[in-house]
Amino acid sequence: KEKKTSDQEKDQKKKLSQPAVFIPVDRSPEIQEARLKLPVLAEEQVIMEAVRENPCVVICGETGSGKTTQVPQFLYEAGYASGSGIIGITEPRRVAAVSMSHRVAKEMNLSTRVVSYQIRYEGNVTSDTKIKFMTDGVLLKEIQKDFLLQRYSVIVIDEAHERSVYTDILIGLLSRIVPLRNKKGMPMKLLVMSATLRVEDFTDNTKLFRIPPPVIKVDARQFPVTIHFNKRTPMEDYTGEVFHKICKIHRMLPPGGILVFLTGQAEVHSLCRRLRKAFPFRKSNTTTGEDEEADTSEAMRKFKKAKQKKPVSLPRIDLDNYSALPVDEGDEDREAGIGDEEDEGSDLEIGDDPNDAEEKADPSIPLYVLPLYSLLAPEQQAKVFRPPPPGTRLCVIATNVAETSLTIPGIKYVVDCGRVKKRFYDRVTGVSSFKVTWTSQASANQRAGRAGRTEPGHCYRLYSSAVFGDFSLFSEAEITRRPVEDLVLQMKDLNIDKVVNFPFPTSPSAEALVAAEQLLVSLGALKEPPRTGRVKDIEQARLSCPITPLGRAMASFPVAPRYAKILALGKQQDCLPYVIAVVAAMTVREIFEDLDRPAGSEDESSKLNQRRARLTQMRRLWAGQGASLLLGDLMVMLGAVGACEFAGCTPKFCEDNGLRYKAMVEIRRLRGQLTNAVNAVCPEVGAFVNPKMTPPTEHQVVCLRQIVLAGLGDHLARRVQGEEILDPKWKNGYKTPLMDEPVFIHPSSALFKTLPEFVVYQEIMETTKMYMKGVSAVEAEWVPQLLPQYCHFSSPQESPSPWFCSSTGTLRCHRASTFFRVAWQLPAVEM
Ligand code: ADP
Ligand code: MG
Repeated sequence: KEKKTSDQEKDQKKKLSQPAVFIPVDRSPEIQEARLKLPVLAEEQVIMEAVRENPCVVICGETGSGKTTQVPQFLYEAGYASGSGIIGITEPRRVAAVSMSHRVAKEMNLSTRVVSYQIRYEGNVTSDTKIKFMTDGVLLKEIQKDFLLQRYSVIVIDEAHERSVYTDILIGLLSRIVPLRNKKGMPMKLLVMSATLRVEDFTDNTKLFRIPPPVIKVDARQFPVTIHFNKRTPMEDYTGEVFHKICKIHRMLPPGGILVFLTGQAEVHSLCRRLRKAFPFRKSNTTTGEDEEADTSEAMRKFKKAKQKKPVSLPRIDLDNYSALPVDEGDEDREAGIGDEEDEGSDLEIGDDPNDAEEKADPSIPLYVLPLYSLLAPEQQAKVFRPPPPGTRLCVIATNVAETSLTIPGIKYVVDCGRVKKRFYDRVTGVSSFKVTWTSQASANQRAGRAGRTEPGHCYRLYSSAVFGDFSLFSEAEITRRPVEDLVLQMKDLNIDKVVNFPFPTSPSAEALVAAEQLLVSLGALKEPPRTGRVKDIEQARLSCPITPLGRAMASFPVAPRYAKILALGKQQDCLPYVIAVVAAMTVREIFEDLDRPAGSEDESSKLNQRRARLTQMRRLWAGQGASLLLGDLMVMLGAVGACEFAGCTPKFCEDNGLRYKAMVEIRRLRGQLTNAVNAVCPEVGAFVNPKMTPPTEHQVVCLRQIVLAGLGDHLARRVQGEEILDPKWKNGYKTPLMDEPVFIHPSSALFKTLPEFVVYQEIMETTKMYMKGVSAVEAEWVPQLLPQYCHFSSPQESPSPWFCSSTGTLRCHRASTFFRVAWQLPAVEM
């Protein structure tokens, strides 16, 4: 029997082996010479043999060893793109997909029609394309359309060490797709490339690969890098510290490029400006001024192009008159949630730094300062690869993108702030936020390694060795630190019904998966499992609910499922523009200035009180009266967004009216993105972008409240009733199905004084009390109709309105007949 399997395996191997074809590539002598210096070239034979003999191969090699640029070329030359299939390479970052496709095209002397890229909204793929670089999100979407990925003969998953959620899911999916393809006689290869040696999650995971794939290590030449720790660790102004360190290096140390790691785009720009001021750079053709001009004109060109391409005009609403003007969709959108973490925010907040003047530098050796981050225009970004103007010192101010995705030549000094901007997910709302945290030891070492590519180098860590000792060893896989309902929905959309059995390289906890599945069922995104039958069958069915048409529509919106449900229902009664604005506002955190913040001094205190009174007044105005007031805090958000857009979304308007400017800019961007997403699902709704939006009628406000209830159904609360009302602890308190403690409407809420009987909330925050935020009033009689899944129906005589059954956490109600009825139709779903 054993012999038989080994024979079978041999047969299998033979079948997979491709005939040794060789497709010649005409490279220039300079390129050829540079290539030969790359460590990965020495391994070409080994790599290609392993690829021929195995369905999956893992390649590990230091950043800069040539994996991304060379491996696709090996595959091309070996004929993997000579048949009908092409070579696909995924990158977690857009910037890498674009720049690597250009670089490989250039090295191979092929046009970008042949070596192309595809990112979310843009690409240059043609019918001649043979090598295609793309973001991992793009490939995931392609799998949704064609599970077998028949266009591809090879898929290369690059930067697997980053462990982005999409990369992890892709590897899980491909571990199934590859054997399936081979079984069907359409061989396919999978290559996983990593910059670190920590690949056990992929290789020693029998759930993933029955036979562990071979790991090929590429030895990189690495010169020694001397690490210098700071004695103390600056907690606040680390960019200031970075600035001083660069000045010191530039004045006192021998020639050699400087690479600086910061956390975000805004930081990068402000440091660039500060450095350019301190070390003015005069040169006829590449003055810094011109650089900046190029930046702007490039941005303008893109903006104009985007404008021509997608003329999406967003409605501007004003609470008083609603006369409206069209607004252009601003910036290019980033691919939501895909490894572009450092791109959070815009660089509009950068002011002149007051400390600029203090550093008097010797400008005799000019410092050639370049920014580098994901969203930088490719032309600007390509500058870092070119030698700096003669007689200058290169200084690249970068985000994490320079850690492993891109290799900059000539770097001798690395300055590392030790921090990284990461996406965090709110467990209550599922909404993401960005926080700056310490990086991991593995990342810090990667950063240091950038200094030793061409000669011995130095790395200056702006933190102490004790702090370094406290860093985690590796960055956690993203999938373990966030709720997974959005992910589960995406996977169900791929028809992966049994998510618990999915071969994740690192699996989320079983509880997280079960909770996600339950929420999605209650939202109507997944089919409800049967309630009767054998216990075991019910248990099984509960964990493998298939997706519904509503779920498919929801899966196409780039927001958390609760909000996606709200969007999916938003088409009704012409509510869509309001629904989009409200969802955008709910998704962006903290849009209002915090009125509770303490004053610094007495003088400030009176001013602050005045301001509080005025802003409270303004918010009351936005909330409106009567019917609109019952939409509560969501009405305030709607009013704020509308008024802000009407005023042109300026920093001044935001400052005057207690809005966070950055949040408002983000909302504007998100509204554009959501508008496009809704139009893609449901093109006939296109009409709603008419800028002449009338104010929501009373009818519409009622409809909006119902839509919100349908999405936030698990966040329902009822004002306390019965004997507890006498308990001072419960005064004005609300009961929720899952908590024993009372929760309260926050004093800043529009509904603080109204105290409606039933409300839904966006999230609960615990400060001095448990406070609900983002509160909207709902009517009792809507509950059984819109949330039957949460209701426990009793006989009609029992009670006229729903109440909570604390033992089961459910609502008890009877089906009332006097609903405000709406046609709960859904947008047509394109399959
Ligand atoms: P890896 O993927 O292993 O990190 P790469 O294939 O990205 O390595 O890089 C290999 C080499 O190619 C590096 O030395 C890098 O400097 C060089 N390189 C990459 N992109 C460019 C470019 N656009 N221009 C010039 N050199 C580049
Ligand atoms: Mg690479």
